Amino acid sequence: MIVGVLAVQGAFAEHEKILKELGVDYLELRNGNDARQNFDGLILPGGESTTQGKLLRELDMFEALQEKIVEGLPVLGTCAGLILLAEELSNDSAHHFGTLPVTVKRNAYGRQLGSFYTEEVVGDLGKVPMTFIRAPYIESVKAGVEVLGEVNEHIVAVRYKNQIGLSFHPELNEDRKIHQMFLDMVSLRDLQTWSQNVI
Ligand code: GLN
Repeated sequence: MIVGVLAVQGAFAEHEKILKELGVDYLELRNGNDARQNFDGLILPGGESTTQGKLLRELDMFEALQEKIVEGLPVLGTCAGLILLAEELSNDSAHHFGTLPVTVKRNAYGRQLGSFYTEEVVGDLGKVPMTFIRAPYIESVKAGVEVLGEVNEHIVAVRYKNQIGLSFHPELNEDRKIHQMFLDMVSLRDLQTWSQNVI
């Protein structure tokens, strides 16, 4: 298994550190050539979504990654990564991959005072630590989207098919349950692809 990590801006090194710790190989995606390689899962880290969106296009990565996500590549989008995946942004005219049928509000907690820590339940993982930094939240979801977690009645974690979108930064805490959930999804897809080709 090899996981592609978008490495053009933001908190990619922290995700890489966790993958290393869990014994998972990863590929840093920095240009179009990287984006067209074969990998089994994709992590879109937190950072600044406008900058990331611009770099994705300038570095010729946008179409290749979008196509892979549409085809079912498992993806974990955290914070800015969630914004890249969202079908719609309620307070921004920007539009990036648009593969996750949710409406997201950027900087939803305010720009300066918007950083905080809490712990809440995510899906069947139990409570997980959540660090929010100038975070977005999910205002609404369309059919087929599973809400995995809420904080103060705002949706902060969703899953749609093979896409996981989070408002917070799981890579900034010691808990590994979120990454494990994502890697389980990657393993399952690998198994499905293998069985389709072999059996
Ligand atoms: N505020 C950032 C944005 O809108 C996201 C913040 C983050 O990734 N921590 O792109």
